[in-house]
Amino acid sequence: MRRALEIAVTGPDLPADTSAGPGQPDGPGGAGGPGGMVEGAGVLGDVPVGAVVYGPDGTELAVGRNERELTGDPTAHAEVLALRRAAARLGRWRLDDCTLVVTLEPCTMCAGALVLSRISTVVFGAWEPKTGAAGSLWDVLRDRRLNHRPEVYPGVLEAENAAVLRAFFR
Ligand SMILES: [Zn+2]
Repeated sequence: MRRALEIAVTGPDLPADTSAGPGQPDGPGGAGGPGGMVEGAGVLGDVPVGAVVYGPDGTELAVGRNERELTGDPTAHAEVLALRRAAARLGRWRLDDCTLVVTLEPCTMCAGALVLSRISTVVFGAWEPKTGAAGSLWDVLRDRRLNHRPEVYPGVLEAENAAVLRAFFR
């Protein structure tokens, strides 16, 4: 989740030296981090949501950051971008045995995409009571009518993830 939070705040495409500073809050005293880190997100203009897909052996396959404003694409959510990149990297659309970690509860579109990808596990940070589709408003990921239901671990580092979003909207 630390990695997803880092992606949310710095974006996946910035040079390594740029992310070195914002990475520091991952260390001890990290609670003070989000305030400073969010400046980067403000520059990018997109709501800071980050996602990471890990392969069956735990290696990082792909990352995604919300790029809706950046790209003008209504579907450019962090989860969708990370899923697409992970599938491209694996050379197949099925992401069995993979895990997606995202800083915010997925929306209906992303939850649908996660089900379609056959991903095994979904871990998310902050709850999204207004649009969440992983337990808040809907529970697309665990709908028994669907033939695939990933394991869901909600609310991981919830406070830290929520703080980054609150800081952005303030
Ligand atoms: Zn979404």
